[in-house]
Amino acid sequence: MKNITLLGATGSIGLQTIDVIKEHPEQFNLYAIAFGKNVDKATEIIEAFKPKKVVVQDEQTRRELSIHTDQLTILVGKEGMEEVSADPETDVLVNAVMGSVGLGATLTAIKHKKQIAIANKETLVTAGHLVMEAAKHYGVDLLPVDSEHSAIFQSLNGESRKDINKIILTASGGSFRDKTREQLKGVTVADALNHPNWSMGAKITIDSATMMNKGLEVIEAHWLFDIPYDKIEVIQHKESIIHSMVEYADKSIIAQLGTPDMRVPIQYALTYPNRLPLSASKSLDLVELSTLHFAKMDMDRFPCLAFAYHAGEKGGSLPTVLNAANEAAVDLFLREKITFLEIEDVIEQAMTSHKIIENPDLDTINAIDAETRKKLYEKY
Ligand code: NDP
Ligand code: MG
Repeated sequence: MKNITLLGATGSIGLQTIDVIKEHPEQFNLYAIAFGKNVDKATEIIEAFKPKKVVVQDEQTRRELSIHTDQLTILVGKEGMEEVSADPETDVLVNAVMGSVGLGATLTAIKHKKQIAIANKETLVTAGHLVMEAAKHYGVDLLPVDSEHSAIFQSLNGESRKDINKIILTASGGSFRDKTREQLKGVTVADALNHPNWSMGAKITIDSATMMNKGLEVIEAHWLFDIPYDKIEVIQHKESIIHSMVEYADKSIIAQLGTPDMRVPIQYALTYPNRLPLSASKSLDLVELSTLHFAKMDMDRFPCLAFAYHAGEKGGSLPTVLNAANEAAVDLFLREKITFLEIEDVIEQAMTSHKIIENPDLDTINAIDAETRKKLYEKY
């Protein structure tokens, strides 16, 4: 029986992780959860699974939750998430909070040699060098939850890095894949939230529409698999059936396929190196599907992808700025303070005005993250 600590329990990945736990009550126990502000959803989870510890985003949410549940250990904020990540009872940390707020918990879990299933991609984008250095130092594997990275992880098949020609990341194209840049001028928040293949949290759905999500995934792949950026290619694949591929020196390509269902990579990160049945997911019917499509990614059509490659290649503190500016810009768009295309302008300006600091430590990263957001919130 593994004790699971689930950060971001009330979110899209969090709830699908709970589906997986529900299927295998003999394997997994929900030991602790963290969430932001959704007290109703959290109360349902607490009543059903009786976790020993709960972390909430702020004091106000703690007060609201206490009314519903009086005999529970409730912790608050980033410190609370770090405490449950270090807890001796925690066997596996599933980090599925949204945003770089999850960084401290990832680093803490590494230091305490926990099994880590990582969905929180912003952690790897903002501080990939620190996270991977710590993982190596403490001998901890980061098991990817993101479907593309789970596919790459499975396609790597334990083979030597030197035999890899390239990684091919697939991109569905997001909500606006068939629109021209001209047509993007008038799009609304509701249009952007309407993803063709996946049902996900609001922030990542917007990131998919701008293609920043794929950009973040390029940086995530660089760190997770220690692959240089010129060996990471992105292609459009509108069906989201091939989740990603690896091409080897002999031109052989290994891919991982399946219906778009995040419970599959979530479960694999929990059961690796074993597999368990997953009755909730559907078999892929290749005959019914009959055709798969692939197309070249256009960097002019999707400048956020180019920004991410640039930030990744330059390195230092630039990926932190890319990520923080993107988190703020998406939030401003969701609150209708800026238009869809202004997301790109905001990120580009933040990156252009930043003076890169090489090899930033954790305090520097946190300071740059906060400063980048502050500047943007003051302006808009
Ligand atoms: P959601 O927005 O659906 O969920 C986010 C979760 O984080 C919620 O539980 C939310 O709580 C919680 N949260 C947000 N801010 C804080 C905070 N400051 N402190 C504590 N908890 C917080 O996001 P997703 O589940 O879609 O995505 C989560 C992560 O997984 C992201 O990094 C995303 O990029 C990644 N990911 C998601 C995929 C997907 O299919 N959804 C696929 C691959 C990666 P509450 O709602 O209660 O406020
Ligand atoms: Mg993904």
